Parts: sequence; structure tokens; C-alpha cells
Amino acid sequence: MKLLPSLSLFLFLVISSASSASILDNFSQCLSDNTEILIPFSKAFITPNNSTFLPTLQSTAQNLRYLVPSVPKPDFIFTPLLDSHVQAAVICSKQLGIHLRVRSGGHDYEALSYVSQIETPFIIVDLAKLRSVQINIEDNSAWVQAGASIGEVYYRIAEKSKTHGYPAGLALA
Ligand SMILES: Cc1cc2nc3c(=O)[nH]c(=O)nc-3n(C[C@H](O)[C@H](O)[C@H](O)COP(=O)(O)OP(=O)(O)OC[C@H]3O[C@@H](n4cnc5c(N)ncnc54)[C@H](O)[C@@H]3O)c2cc1C
Repeated sequence: MKLLPSLSLFLFLVISSASSASILDNFSQCLSDNTEILIPFSKAFITPNNSTFLPTLQSTAQNLRYLVPSVPKPDFIFTPLLDSHVQAAVICSKQLGIHLRVRSGGHDYEALSYVSQIETPFIIVDLAKLRSVQINIEDNSAWVQAGASIGEVYYRIAEKSKTHGYPAGLALA
């Protein structure tokens, strides 16, 4: 039986949105099973239906060619609030066969942190909320979470010491 074009388009849209929903449902269920700390859904997941999806996706992207509509978009953006959420995300993506893109600063020129052209479906694990900076002047060490910006690192060091520095760069392209 041949489907009319508009009907087949409708079915395709229904099927693709159902499959995105089930990926999200399965993923969030798996996360709950693999972490003891509750993951607040409204804070941790951003789906394409959410008005903040595109602004969040674009927020740190440096190569605008990878933001055009024809480039594949993630099924959703997961923003871990704790280290254990990241561990659970890795376990669950493996279990469910979902490809992960990990985004720290999102500056990667080839968009590896926010686009997957071949391995789909994919999701972004956005580390933007994991940005603590712990400075220990006595042993000259710093522990910096992946979402921290270079400015935050400079600032935290300067708070603790007037003589310590951190070699890093900033380039405009
Ligand atoms: C305008 C501009 C100027 C730049 N200038 C310089 C420069 O002067 N010197 C220089 O060395 N580089 C420079 N770069 C390159 C930039 O430093 C690299 O692209 C670097 O990878 C950006 O870090 P990020 O945290 O933003 O990476 P992201 O884009 O977040 O990630 C880069 C890659 O690492 C993976 N990844 C991210 N976080 C993690 C994690 N926590 N664990 C495992 N994998 C992870 C991502 O999936 C992706 O594959 C510049 C880039 C831009 C856009």
C-alpha cells in the first residue's frame, strides 16, 4: 500500500519524535538506576522542544558552520550536576547504544564536542555546571573541573596568591 506523501511525512515525524522520547526516557531511567543522587529532570535535561535548547547548543560553539539546520542535532543535552552523574551517563550511553559528545568549553573547531555526523543518535553531556576550582597554594596545585573557564581559574588563583600564576593562552581567530 502506498502512503500519500503528507501522510508518510506525518508518520515519519510521529515515529521520530516517539523514538527521541524513548531514548530520553530510557536514558533518564538508566541514570536513576546508576546514581544514588537524584537528578532533577528540569535542570539536567534540555530537549529540542525546550526554548533554551538552541541557545544552549549555540552558547559556546565557535564554528558556526556546524550550527546550520542541516547538521544533525543531539536528541537532548544532559547537564550533569555532580561527578556521579557523568559516570552514570557513560554507563548508560554504553548500555543503550547512544553516542556521547562531551562538551567542556565547546571551542573545538571541528565541533567534536557538539555534533556527530555519523554516529547517531547522539546526545551532548554538557559539563558547564561542573566548574569548581580548588587552589592549594601550599603544594602549588589546582584541581579544576572541566566546565570552568580560564577566567575563573585566573580569578581563583589571584584570590589566594599575589605571586602565583598559571600559563594559559587566549587567541582570537
Ligand atoms: C577562537 C579559538 C582560539 C583558540 N586558541 C587556541 C590557542 O591559542 N591554543 C590552543 O592550544 N588551542 C586553541 N584553540 C583550540 C582549543 O583550545 C581546543 O579546541 C580545545 O580543545 C578547546 O577546549 P574545550 O574545553 O572548549 O573543548 P571542547 O570543544 O569542549 O572539547 C574538545 C574535544 O574534547 C572532548 N572533551 C571535552 N571535554 C572532555 C572531558 N571532560 N573528557 C573527555 N573528553 C572531553 C570533546 O568531546 C571534544 O572531542 C582555540 C580555539 C578557538 C575556537
